[in-house]
Amino acid sequence: MKTWRVIDLIEWTTEYFERHEIPTPRLDAELLLGHLLQKSRLQLYLSFEMPVFQGALSKFRELIKRRIAHTPVSYLTNHKEFMSLDFYVDSRVLIPRPETEILVETVLQHQREPCRFVDIGTGCGAIAISFGHHRPDWELIATDFSTDALEVAQQNALTHNCADRLTFLQGDLFEPLQELPNSRFDWIASNPPYVGTNEVSTLPLDVREHEPEIALFAGADGLDIIRRIVTDAPQFLNSEGKLILEIGYNQSHPVQDLIKSQPAYKHCEVIKDYAGIERVVLASL
Ligand code: SAM
Ligand code: GLN
Repeated sequence: MKTWRVIDLIEWTTEYFERHEIPTPRLDAELLLGHLLQKSRLQLYLSFEMPVFQGALSKFRELIKRRIAHTPVSYLTNHKEFMSLDFYVDSRVLIPRPETEILVETVLQHQREPCRFVDIGTGCGAIAISFGHHRPDWELIATDFSTDALEVAQQNALTHNCADRLTFLQGDLFEPLQELPNSRFDWIASNPPYVGTNEVSTLPLDVREHEPEIALFAGADGLDIIRRIVTDAPQFLNSEGKLILEIGYNQSHPVQDLIKSQPAYKHCEVIKDYAGIERVVLASL
């Protein structure tokens, strides 16, 4: 029987993924094998000649099968790095995207003093927990409609030692905030669902077939949730409070128009992502 070395497996899997039109075949092969052998990609490179035994091979075969069914790598490894922190993820939550780090970094640049902050639609907790880590003196609330997502977020808050400083609430957008003794905030942040149901067919299969629908879609034009957030946020902001939102690649103009149509907002600025797309909108009272 053939002995498979690490390098043989990487090469075979890369070619197999290529044939199945997986967009980053070599990277995915390395991430999955590294996950299985509990090695970083660097350690894997230093172990190219190492033989891989039968037990690991059959598990690897299973991972490969799920990957060619377009299961995202992060759901297979249960890890995703965000703001240099390691988040547990599974199919109950959207996998945090690098674009969302721009939202977090914008807030970090604007706000150093202690404040009250709420993350609407927290998913795995990426945004709120990043502040739990970087700003230990902030009062943090995170909400989601999905109880499944909140379970994942709570687990991540424990891992990142901020469970005692972060309050999780379940419900529809601002509704759960009304239960709080103080429902006014200095910051409201959200990466809401913003994909239009019109655009389903343009999404990569990984996203369309595996990530939660509730995390992605917001009506035909993708703006249903953003419209509600922009309209209602001023009632939940302190004077000079700020609303920061991630938006879709074609939503900058409609979202700025929505903000301008609400007299409560005094300023509005737009921040581009690394691809030059207007990705984050910051509106201030
Ligand atoms: N904040 C996370 C991130 O950036 O990775 C997750 C963002 S995901 C695009 C949107 C999240 O909003 C999902 O977790 C979804 O469950 C939640 N959501 C969708 N509709 C909602 C609603 N009406 N009220 C509260 N949360 C909602
Ligand atoms: N940016 C996500 C995508 O890749 C969508 C996330 C969202 O709707 N907030 O489709």
